[in-house]
Amino acid sequence: MDLETGTRRCFSCGFEMAEEDAHCPNCLCSLHEETQEEWECGGILQPISLWVKDDGSWEILQKCSLCGELAATPRAPRDNPLKLLQLAARPLADPPFPLERIGEMTRLMGGSGSTEGYYDEP
Ligand SMILES: [Zn+2]
Ligand SMILES: [Zn+2]
Repeated sequence: MDLETGTRRCFSCGFEMAEEDAHCPNCLCSLHEETQEEWECGGILQPISLWVKDDGSWEILQKCSLCGELAATPRAPRDNPLKLLQLAARPLADPPFPLERIGEMTRLMGGSGSTEGYYDEP
């Protein structure tokens, strides 16, 4: 925290954060200030995934680089959309199933968004 200007910089990428930013809008990291045991960790919470809540709002899941604790922070309007997309696309860029099956799976979903039928016998 710079007391003269009131600004603080991201501990991960150096981006100038605003007072109201709960996490860095540029790299989506934040400082792990307090753990569940209420001691100060000081590690960097790095974004690992996105989570869409039932009400449609997005949260960024973070994991501490130091203690490994998981945290969630609500998506903010200033968040870097490219970084959000990168997070959302990461599992798709490295899918845990063979890519050749994607066409088949899309057909099973029938364009209606249904995910039933995957385990049905043909
Ligand atoms: Zn940052
Ligand atoms: Zn930590």
